Amino acid sequence: MTERAEVRIDGKAFAERVRARVAEQVAVLRGRHGIVPGLAVVLVGDDPASEIYVRNKGKQTEAAGMQSLQIRLPADTDEATLLAAVNDLNGDRRVNGILVQLPLPSQIDTERVIAAIDPAKDVDGFHPINVGRLMSGGEALVPCTPLGCMMMLQDRLGDLGGLEAVVVGRSNIVGKPMAALLLKANCTVTVAHSRTRDLPGVCRRADILVAATGRPEMIRGDWIKPGAMVIDVGINRIAGADGKNRLVGDVAYAEAVEVAGGITPVPGGVGPMTIACLLQNTLTATCRQHGIDPADLGAGSG
Ligand code: NDP
Repeated sequence: MTERAEVRIDGKAFAERVRARVAEQVAVLRGRHGIVPGLAVVLVGDDPASEIYVRNKGKQTEAAGMQSLQIRLPADTDEATLLAAVNDLNGDRRVNGILVQLPLPSQIDTERVIAAIDPAKDVDGFHPINVGRLMSGGEALVPCTPLGCMMMLQDRLGDLGGLEAVVVGRSNIVGKPMAALLLKANCTVTVAHSRTRDLPGVCRRADILVAATGRPEMIRGDWIKPGAMVIDVGINRIAGADGKNRLVGDVAYAEAVEVAGGITPVPGGVGPMTIACLLQNTLTATCRQHGIDPADLGAGSG
């Protein structure tokens, strides 16, 4: 029983440790260099889920000792107005990180907006320059969700070199950057998707299995190699037996936890790490903009 409990990877507790370490480093940055990192979040429209994310991001940014700036624009904002707002933030010295909350309303071209963000301030890591740097091994800002997954994997496994990793899902925000990070960490990487043949067989090869499909509980216990590390990125809302909605991942947790060596639950796994990594990225971006090595701020650099 105790052994099985250790299989569960507590993303909430891990995220708290990351946030605490970032806060310590921010305090050193402020004390030693007089620099307070600033994160600007732009929200267009009033989507309730986005509202909650933006509010949480603001609270956690301030709790880490950083400055939080929120720019709220109406749902009918045109692209030129949003691009002008991004441009102002690019030139604002108080702002070290810029995040435009997605999805954007349909009248706005998301790719054009992402491309307008200064790559040095692109804390979501979605700008083509950061995507290219990640692929070519350069100094990129890395998308927050895969970064959080890597932190949890390295914490449990240490060196990932030589391990078989299977990433199910090939989106630009999760699957592809996740695969690039695993490759950089010297894993042998397979990226599976909706056209993959014999997905259960491909998954069974994995020492590290990352699920990012948005298909509730698609990955079953008998698809998992005994002892494998399973990172479940999926967040799916389904109706429970009692008629109430509940959140589940892309992995059938109750089955998988009996087989895996480690597994992130949903909720409480990857989700909390995403905002923690946003704070980490804001600190990283601030340090790079000022030519400071984050390792010199003590408490490790993540
Ligand atoms: P997308 O919808 O952009 O991508 C889904 C991927 O899964 C696609 O590559 C698709 O393949 C693949 N896929 C879909 N069905 C199957 C199938 N039956 N077999 C194999 N592959 C399949 O999703 P995202 O990457 O944006 O998100 C994935 C999940 O992660 C969602 O549940 C989302 O809510 C969650 N998420 C969680 C975050 C967090 O903070 N925890 C952050 C971001 C996302 P193909 O390309 O062939 O269509």
